[in-house]
Amino acid sequence: MRSIRTGAIMSSSLLIALGCALVALLVFIRWSKRVWMVLSERVSRPRKLQRAKLIYMEQVFRADGPIPVIAKVDRGYRDEDGLICLVELKTRRANQPHLSDVIELSAQRFALEAQTRNRLADYGYVLIQQPGRRRKTPHRVWLLNREEIIALAKRREAILSGLVQAEYACSPGLCRKCAFKSQCKPPAC
Ligand code: SF4
Repeated sequence: MRSIRTGAIMSSSLLIALGCALVALLVFIRWSKRVWMVLSERVSRPRKLQRAKLIYMEQVFRADGPIPVIAKVDRGYRDEDGLICLVELKTRRANQPHLSDVIELSAQRFALEAQTRNRLADYGYVLIQQPGRRRKTPHRVWLLNREEIIALAKRREAILSGLVQAEYACSPGLCRKCAFKSQCKPPAC
């Protein structure tokens, strides 16, 4: 009887020990992932932002007004002068930024500035990850100003409401696989 009870105590102690080990392992895996994420974020930063503070990550901002602009910021850094600089992450074969990246970053700046009243840099970075390569390459791009973004947003509205017909992009590859191709016309460029 006594040996049965001792056996039961031992097996429950073993279970508790295994449970503790499992919890410790899970905590360690989570911690390692976090360390890896922080390190890889630091390593991938553009040189100019090495000492900046990461303050926004995957956050949505909205500029209200006659034409609202909603944009999701991949990363936003505050530099030592208090200026915020935006970074957009892209995975693609070609190691070069597109005009669409510039428009995305510019819309993010427009929405973030309107919502937070923070000072933002008039440039941003497109951080490109090429498949099969570990290193990300930052490309600095100049952003569109407020008037240009409003004009683009108005044009988008006009196209969506059928008042204006969209034109193919000057770079034919950009429209090649688009499902809406039949609805657009040849470009003026
Ligand atoms: S084909 Fe598609 S990507 Fe090209 S302009 Fe028209 S809607 Fe835009």
